[in-house]
Amino acid sequence: MVDLKNIEKRFGDHMVLKNVSLSVAEGSVMALVGPSGGGKSTLLRCINLLEIPTSGSVEVAGDRLDFQPGVRMGTKQIQLVRRHTGMVFQNFQLFPHRTVIENVTEGLTTVLKWPRERARERAITLLEKVGLAHKAEVWPSTLSGGQLQRVAIARALAPSPKVLLCDEPTSALDPELSGEVVDVLAQLAREGTTMVMATHDLRLASRIANEVIVLDGGVVVETGSSRDIFTNPKRERTKRFIATLT
Ligand code: ATP
Ligand code: MG
Repeated sequence: MVDLKNIEKRFGDHMVLKNVSLSVAEGSVMALVGPSGGGKSTLLRCINLLEIPTSGSVEVAGDRLDFQPGVRMGTKQIQLVRRHTGMVFQNFQLFPHRTVIENVTEGLTTVLKWPRERARERAITLLEKVGLAHKAEVWPSTLSGGQLQRVAIARALAPSPKVLLCDEPTSALDPELSGEVVDVLAQLAREGTTMVMATHDLRLASRIANEVIVLDGGVVVETGSSRDIFTNPKRERTKRFIATLT
């Protein structure tokens, strides 16, 4: 479902991703872990093309783009791949001046031009899924962090993306509130949602990831099942890093 080959990303002279390849099967969940600055967010952003890779190829749901230094990719092609993805951010990024349901319908009505009623029906279905249908008409400022993140998940899923990308979805939340977000993501995983998530949350990664990639200094240094990586890491540096997770 997601195939990255030889991705390199350079900011000026700084090469932040070096020859990264990975493959996520349909219905599978991949966790990206590793020290701060290792390139996890940049890699996620290269999948939805919020960052344009310097070189390498990105394939999502059968649509593949090849990047080369100095060659500009067309906006249409970028949109094509981006629309296969939905993204959830650490700090939720809801629109504060829109109600919960308007946050979920916004992309459907403005970008996809869905009629308002159809968008509202879709939004209610998703808010039910994340346990927040009763909050549809309230302002985001009245919700807890866990509830805000569940709305953000509903919003990301609204256009039925083929893959859900999550960047530290629980790290702005205290453990109690992160639990309700982990539960929602675990439910989505059980239902077969393909996901790639960057996380420092051992509970989240060990509970729902099928596969784990350790990124360190922009390089994939280990890859394996979550059991392999979390209970039996091969490299000393990975062992020390895993020991810092909670
Ligand atoms: P964290 O665990 O702290 O979230 P990360 O693994 O997500 O870290 P990235 O945010 O992807 O790491 O950053 C990787 C490297 O790329 C860092 O050295 C960062 O400073 C650099 N970087 C990221 N975005 C940019 C940018 N827009 N311009 C220049 N450098 C950037
Ligand atoms: Mg990051």
